[in-house]
Amino acid sequence: MKYWSSSRRDFLKAIAGLALSGTSLARTSGPLQRPVLIVGGGLAGLAVLDALQAAGRPALLFEASARLGGRILTIRDGLEPGLRAEAGGEQIMRSHQRVHRLASDLRIPLADYPFLEGDLVFRHHSRMLRFRLPSDLPADLTDGLSPWEKTRWPHRLHLAYTENADPVADDDPRSALQWLRDLGLSRRGEAFVRAFATVDPEQTSAAHFQRIARREAAGGNSQVLAGGSDRLIEALAARHAQSIRRNTTIRSVVIGENTATLLDAAGVAHVADQVVLALPLGPLLQLDYRPGQPRWLARWGEARVVAHELKVHGQVDAREFAALGIRQHIMGFEFPRMTWLLPEHSANGKAVLNATAVHRQLALVKEARFRGVQDMDRLLRQRLPLLRTLEVTTRGEDWENNPLICGAYTYVPAGSRGSPPVLREGPLVLAGSDYSDYSGWMEGALQSAEVAVSEILRA
Ligand SMILES: Cc1cc2nc3c(=O)[nH]c(=O)nc-3n(C[C@H](O)[C@H](O)[C@H](O)COP(=O)(O)OP(=O)(O)OC[C@H]3O[C@@H](n4cnc5c(N)ncnc54)[C@H](O)[C@@H]3O)c2cc1C
Repeated sequence: MKYWSSSRRDFLKAIAGLALSGTSLARTSGPLQRPVLIVGGGLAGLAVLDALQAAGRPALLFEASARLGGRILTIRDGLEPGLRAEAGGEQIMRSHQRVHRLASDLRIPLADYPFLEGDLVFRHHSRMLRFRLPSDLPADLTDGLSPWEKTRWPHRLHLAYTENADPVADDDPRSALQWLRDLGLSRRGEAFVRAFATVDPEQTSAAHFQRIARREAAGGNSQVLAGGSDRLIEALAARHAQSIRRNTTIRSVVIGENTATLLDAAGVAHVADQVVLALPLGPLLQLDYRPGQPRWLARWGEARVVAHELKVHGQVDAREFAALGIRQHIMGFEFPRMTWLLPEHSANGKAVLNATAVHRQLALVKEARFRGVQDMDRLLRQRLPLLRTLEVTTRGEDWENNPLICGAYTYVPAGSRGSPPVLREGPLVLAGSDYSDYSGWMEGALQSAEVAVSEILRA
């Protein structure tokens, strides 16, 4: 197959020679205006589509899978009616203004998530330790913490350190761990930071870690989308059903001076003046770029590492859970890192408990997950002995081995100079939570969409 470059003559010639998708060209009342093409039907891609359509720009979105939403995945199968579990995007901080605005625009109410209330429980050497204040914890757990650290919640130590620290320069070569040590983090405190910070402090840069932690600390108690995060996706998809092509995997991007051509897995070519790539880093790097990878992509590739988080869920008796006086946070150095109860209850009093793993805790869960539901069930029962009624109903989504995602989120490694600022090269514009200031958050997907749309409209 021959690929073409930018000129209109070449473009027209190409139409004759290639199986162009019927929707790749849209006639408007004015001159020929090709739709902006969007690759990726996660929140970022859908938000770009929504904003472009609102601005009167035709746009067409391609999603590889039959399901839209990407890392927003609400699980309902196997659960009591009315219950759901979230395998990806879930909590919305009060400071996440864009998600709040979008939910209100789509008329989806938010439910409070009393994340920081109730007794906390720490799982240590197979013991379940209840506490409210760090000083309630037994000495063998707090030995080695500094006097200041002993006054902070151990699972929020990384946030406590970040609160009043001076800003770290983007080109500071230190890892987050080194920076925290320089701020006085004790060896014992390190164990807590490693277990509870979602980004690995050893791998990530101090500047990036500080940005993420500051955002998290400012978030306070969070909220969730009532009825499930996927309601956001469904509402956006319903608005733009005509402009969405599911089951369409984009494999190649042919970059011209003023146009780009996308080739899908069926060999159909789609031509546009502007293309938004709204993909996580893994799939973005896997695309076949011709004549070669855009320069900014090489820089993003170098500047990011992919991190993993896995959630599994158990259906529990909400009354039994309430009687324990625990709202959330059965914590541990190993799996589960944290648990929390989703706000919905079924008619017969069941609710869904989330259990999460990050970093070194992942291996155990992945192994059990691989062996099947029974092993997962056994693991969860063993780890949460306080609960008599525990029905394990999901094994969560293994984002790392999902070829359309390739990891839960990405971050900037130590030694890197931070995020490359360039989001556009020729006709290609980049979007997606991973390239925003809120990597790992739905807010980031919306922030990146905002930037991408203003790039498109400016051109
Ligand atoms: C375990 C976990 C927990 C999380 N918890 C929270 C939370 O509590 N709060 C919060 O705000 N955020 C959370 N997030 C983050 C949030 O879910 C993401 O930041 C956000 O959903 C990412 O949206 P996106 O559009 O950038 O990317 P994605 O959702 O990854 O969308 C990318 C899309 O591109 C598609 N695609 C891939 N390759 C191709 C191709 N070649 N052609 C066409 N389509 C392709 C994929 O199928 C996918 O649909 C969590 C994420 C994970 C994984």
